[in-house]
Amino acid sequence: VSKDAEKMIEAHELLKKFYHHLLVNTKEGQKALDYLLNRGFTKEIIDQFEIGYALDSWDFITKFLIKRGFDPHMMEEAGLLVKKSNSDEYFDRFRNRIMFPINDHNGLPIAFSGRVLGDEKPKYLNSPETKIFNKSKLLYNFHRARVHIRKNQQVILFEGFADVISSVKSGVEQSIASMGTSLTEDQAKIIRRNASEVVICYDSDSAGIEATIRASKTLLDAGCKINVAMIPDGLDPDDYIKKFGSEKFRNDVIGASVSLMTFKMNYFRRGKNLQNEGERLQYIENVITELSKLTNAIEKEIYLKQLSKEFELSLDVLNEQLHQKEKQSH
Ligand code: ATP
Ligand code: MN
Ligand code: MN
Ligand code: MN
Repeated sequence: VSKDAEKMIEAHELLKKFYHHLLVNTKEGQKALDYLLNRGFTKEIIDQFEIGYALDSWDFITKFLIKRGFDPHMMEEAGLLVKKSNSDEYFDRFRNRIMFPINDHNGLPIAFSGRVLGDEKPKYLNSPETKIFNKSKLLYNFHRARVHIRKNQQVILFEGFADVISSVKSGVEQSIASMGTSLTEDQAKIIRRNASEVVICYDSDSAGIEATIRASKTLLDAGCKINVAMIPDGLDPDDYIKKFGSEKFRNDVIGASVSLMTFKMNYFRRGKNLQNEGERLQYIENVITELSKLTNAIEKEIYLKQLSKEFELSLDVLNEQLHQKEKQSH
């Protein structure tokens, strides 16, 4: 690492501790702490993830850093300060936000994500891309999860920071998230290098369901085996854990994760009335197209049998249709 990078990491290290101190020990941090405790974050989990609070001030951090000898221009390049246009003045990027430190895969703090305490926008403000922070190659919580990922040969992949934190709190330690964007090829490769199986556990709203389909393609290309943990009722994993508890999350969500094919069958069913002949045919067509992409003959047979049973169709007919599809795609 360059001297600049070292200095930037040093600033993050310092601010991480300071934000955490503000959250847990000061009157100014009380409303942020109450917010977190209300959401079900515990004192232990706040310490473990080094969560903090950025004061409602335009220049507190600017002054704090300058007083300690950090070059404000470099701190701007590190994403901690913002420069006023047409002026040499700087101000704090993160104000009145809950601060989640983001560490690189060796555990060094290189960025922050700050959440508002209410419903203002943007909900999360992330550090920009910098010399030390490359979003597309970073997985949140990877440095803590790695040993558990290797041991279990399994990654649980979430959308949000809060989901990862609640999952770890519930005892599922091999939990990570991408950085609020679609999973990238680089992230998928990192996952594949450390484990063979991924359980995608995204939000159960339509955005989360679409994102599951997208991530599954990227992960398949990287050579991962994929399962999907489905959360009911449009909740996200963090909401679910708060509502139903850790044990139900471990057993009924993670433990009950299904194959990607089963998830897709559910997905194709969404909004379809299978009593209607046309929609039923469309559904069967969707499933067979998907089956034609599978390489494992046993899997194909299992799902064909399911279709055959459910819709009272002969296996011969379904097999014939599948073979036609396979010919088309070659
Ligand atoms: P919370 O539970 O705190 O409300 P969430 O994780 O459920 O947050 P989602 O809206 O489901 O929030 O978004 C998932 C993830 O996407 C967030 O954790 C964050 O990483 C990212 N994200 C959400 N909103 C933004 C935003 N405005 N800018 C950047 N990233 C965002
Ligand atoms: Mn979401
Ligand atoms: Mn969510
Ligand atoms: Mn949430």
